Amino acid sequence: MDEKFLKEAKQKLEKEREILEKELKQFAKENSKVKGDWSTKFPHFNGGVGSQRLEEAADEVEEYLTLLPIESRLELELQAVNSALEKIKKGGYGKCEKCKKDIPLERLKVYPPARTCLECK
Ligand SMILES: [Zn+2]
Repeated sequence: MDEKFLKEAKQKLEKEREILEKELKQFAKENSKVKGDWSTKFPHFNGGVGSQRLEEAADEVEEYLTLLPIESRLELELQAVNSALEKIKKGGYGKCEKCKKDIPLERLKVYPPARTCLECK
């Protein structure tokens, strides 16, 4: 794979990582011990007392449950981006993880973190 293509892919992936981390930071916290492991922060709405407080608690749970799947989707995406960046550094970027063949450049252009070719997808 040529240098120029790798360089472009790296730039795209770094940009993507920045965006994903920014999104995650809005409602999740990265595990300080395990890099790349994020968990959704439990939202805390302020203020209510009595029955209003209970209602708020219900809203918090609801919000939390809405955020969970978003968080895991972003986290997986971020892991894919990081692993692609790792492969660019160490070699092996652009190889299908299943059949070991080269992933077509067209696919990598559209989706730089791709781990597999279209047939193995
Ligand atoms: Zn394949």
